[in-house]
Amino acid sequence: MIRVALAGNPNSGKTTLFNNLTGSTAHVGNWPGVTVDKREGTYKKKGLEISVVDLPGIYSLSPYTPEEVIARNYILNDKPDCVINVVDSTNLERNLYLTTQLLEIDVPLVVALNMTDELTRRGESVDVKKLSEKMGVTVVAISALQNKGIHELMEAVSKACTAKREGTTVLDNKQLLHLITDVKIALQSQNVENALFHAIKLAEMDEMESTQHPQLLKMVEGFKATFNDDTFGSDTEALIADARYKYISVHFSTLYNRSGNKAKLTRSDKIDRVLTNRWLGIPIFLAIMFVVFHFTFSENFLFLRRLIPEDWESLSGTAFQGVFGAGSINSPGVILQSLMGVFTDWLTGVVRGWLSGSSEWVSGLICDGVMAGVGSVLSFVPQVLLLFMFFSILEDSGYMARVAFILDRIFRRFGLSGRAFMPMIMGFGCSIPAMINTRTLADEKERIATIRVIPFFSCGAKLPILTAVAGAIVSSFGVSNADVITYLMYVAGIVTAIVTVLLMRNTSMRGHTPPFIMELPQYHLPQFKSLVIHLWDKLKHFVKKAFTIILASTIVVWVTMHFSFDWKYLSDEQIGQSILAGLGKLVQPLFTPVGFGSQLGEYGWVFAVAAVSGLIAKENVISTFATLAAGLGAVIAEDPTGIAYVEQMIAFTGATVAGLIAFIIFNMTTIPCFAAVASAKAELRKGTLGRTLLFWIVTSYIASAVVYVVLSWWWTVFIVLAVAALAVAGVVIYNKKHPVRR
Ligand code: GDP
Ligand code: MG
Repeated sequence: MIRVALAGNPNSGKTTLFNNLTGSTAHVGNWPGVTVDKREGTYKKKGLEISVVDLPGIYSLSPYTPEEVIARNYILNDKPDCVINVVDSTNLERNLYLTTQLLEIDVPLVVALNMTDELTRRGESVDVKKLSEKMGVTVVAISALQNKGIHELMEAVSKACTAKREGTTVLDNKQLLHLITDVKIALQSQNVENALFHAIKLAEMDEMESTQHPQLLKMVEGFKATFNDDTFGSDTEALIADARYKYISVHFSTLYNRSGNKAKLTRSDKIDRVLTNRWLGIPIFLAIMFVVFHFTFSENFLFLRRLIPEDWESLSGTAFQGVFGAGSINSPGVILQSLMGVFTDWLTGVVRGWLSGSSEWVSGLICDGVMAGVGSVLSFVPQVLLLFMFFSILEDSGYMARVAFILDRIFRRFGLSGRAFMPMIMGFGCSIPAMINTRTLADEKERIATIRVIPFFSCGAKLPILTAVAGAIVSSFGVSNADVITYLMYVAGIVTAIVTVLLMRNTSMRGHTPPFIMELPQYHLPQFKSLVIHLWDKLKHFVKKAFTIILASTIVVWVTMHFSFDWKYLSDEQIGQSILAGLGKLVQPLFTPVGFGSQLGEYGWVFAVAAVSGLIAKENVISTFATLAAGLGAVIAEDPTGIAYVEQMIAFTGATVAGLIAFIIFNMTTIPCFAAVASAKAELRKGTLGRTLLFWIVTSYIASAVVYVVLSWWWTVFIVLAVAALAVAGVVIYNKKHPVRR
C-alpha cells in the first residue's frame, strides 16, 4: 500500500485533512501545536487505498523543536512514498518557506493548497497552474474544512508515487550553489541518500547534521575555505534562509491575487483589536469564563431572583421547583443536572421495589452502594459536557489562541512561554493528554514544571467535587451562589499553579524560556461535526469510567462499610464499627491541619475516606460520599434521597464552610488520579516522579491549610497580616532613611 505523510505549518489544516481522509476523529485545534505525535490512518475510496500519516506542524526542517525533529526524521528515515505538503493559501509566503525545503528531499511531493474557501471568501486567488510549473510538483487546490478537492488530491498523490523525484532547490546564489553542488557530489560518491538535502543542511551547519556526520562537516569547511573568506559570512544558515525568502517573494508572490485592498483590516483583525488589547484582554477572558461558569453552574440564572413572581412560592416543594429552581431560576447546566438526578432517583426507586423481597444486604449493595455511587457520578455528565462544549467552541473559534498570546506577556515573567498555556487549558479536560502535550515545550525544566501544575487545572473528573460541595455549601449555609464558588475554586487552582510555577522557575527548575512565536489563526465559526465528536469522546470516557473503576470502587466502599473486621454484616446504625470507619479514623488525623480531620464529629472520617479514594479516580470522592450517605442516611432519615449526599455529610459531621472549601482545594491540588500519575511518570525524566509526588502533597497541604486558616479565622489572620505589613513597611522606611554604606 502507498504510504503518504502530511507535512505543513502548524494550523495549516493537516489534521482536518487527515480526519477527512481517514474518517478519524483526531483532535483538531484552531491552535498551533495540537498534534505532537504522528498519527496513522487509511484513505479508501474509488479504488484508491493509501495509508496516511499526520505529522506535527513545523515551520522548517531545522531541528529546533521536537516537532521538527519528529517530522524530519519521519520523512528522511521512514521514507514515505509521497509527501503531501499542506499549505495555508491565505498565508502563502510563510508556508512556502517549508515547501522550498521539502523540495530538496528526493521524495515525490504534492502540494495541497488548503483553505481555498477562505481565500475565495476574501475575494483573493492563487494561480495554481503557474505555482505548479514553477515548483515542478503537482499543486491541488482543496478545502479540508468543506471536504473539497480531496479525491483529486489523492489521485495526484497516487500518480506522483509512480515516479521517482529528485530533490531540487530554489537557492540560486552562484557561490552557494557551487558549494552545495560540490558537497552533494561528494555525498553521492559515498552513497548518501538525499544528497542535496544533506548538502544544504551541512552548508547551513545544521546542528543535527553536524553531530551525525562530523567527518562530512570537515569536508564542508574545506570547501568553504576554497572560497573567498567572506563569501558566506559567519552565518550560512541565515544567508540560506534569506535566499529562500527572497526567491519566494520574487517568484511566488506574483501568483497571489490580492484584489487590491491590502490595507483594509480583515474581520479577524478588527475583533483582535479588542480581544487582544493590552489592558482589556485579561478582563475579557475572565468575564467570558465567568459567563461559561454561570451558564453551567448557576442556581440564580441571569440573576433573575428578584424578578420571580410571587406565586412562584406556591410551587414550593414540587418536582418542578426541584428541577428549575427554588426561589430563583436554574441555569441550563443545573437544570440538566437536576433532570439527571430525578432520573437516577426514580431508577433507584424502581430497582428498590424489585428487590424488596430479597435480603437486606443485596438491596443495600445494589441500591445504596452501586446505584447511589455510580448514579452520583453520572448525574454530572450533563454539566461536564456543557462545560466542554463551551471550551471546545472557544478553542475552535480561534479565541483560545488569542488567550495564549495575551498570557504570553504575563507568563514570560513567571519563566513560562505562552506555549505552556495549551497543555494547561487541556488540563481542564483531562490531565493525561495535557501532560503528553507538554512535549511541545522545548525547555526540559519548563516542561517538568508545567507537568507538575497541570493537575491544578481542575479536570472533568474533579468537577463533581466542586459542584456537589459548592452546591451543598449554598444550600446548607446559604452563602453566595454556587457558580461563584465554583468559578473561584477554578481561579484558586490557577493561582496555585502560578505561585508554584514561579517558585519552581526561580529555584530548582530554572531555565531558559525560548521565545514563543505564533501567528494567530483566523477566527471562524466552530465546526459542528468536530464539536460533536469531541463531546462524544468525552461522554464515552466518562461513562466507561463510571461503569468500571467507579463501579468497582463503590462496591469496595459499600462492602468495607457494611462489614466489621471480624467479617460480620453491620446494619446502617453500626457503620461506625466497620472496616472502612476503622481505616478512616486511622488516617483522619492527617487531615486535621487542613480542616476536615479530627475536628469533625462522629462520622468525620468520611472526608478522609473520600479524599483517599479520590487517588484512584477523582469521581470516587463523590461516589464514596453518595454510597456512605445512602447508608448513613438511614440513621436519621427514613428515605435518603439521591443527590443531597454532601448536605447529609455536613449534617453528620459538622463540617464548616472553611473546612469544605479546604476540602475542595485539597482534592484539586493533591496527587491526581492513578492514571494521571502513570502518565506523569511516563512523561517525566527518570528519577523526578518521587519529587513530583512530594510536590503535589506539599502543595495541597499548604494550599488547603492556608484556605482553612484564613477562612476560619479571617479576622485574626487579618490582624496578624496587618501587623506584619506594618512591621515590614517600618523596616523598609527605616532602611531608606538609613542606607547601609558599602
Ligand atoms: P493542523 O495544526 O495543521 O493540524 O491544523 P488543524 O487541522 O488543527 O486546523 C487548524 C484550523 O484551521 C482549524 O480551526 C480548522 O477548522 C481550520 N481549517 C482547516 N482546514 C480549513 C479549510 O480548508 N478552510 C478553513 N476556512 N479552515 C480550515
Ligand atoms: Mg494537527
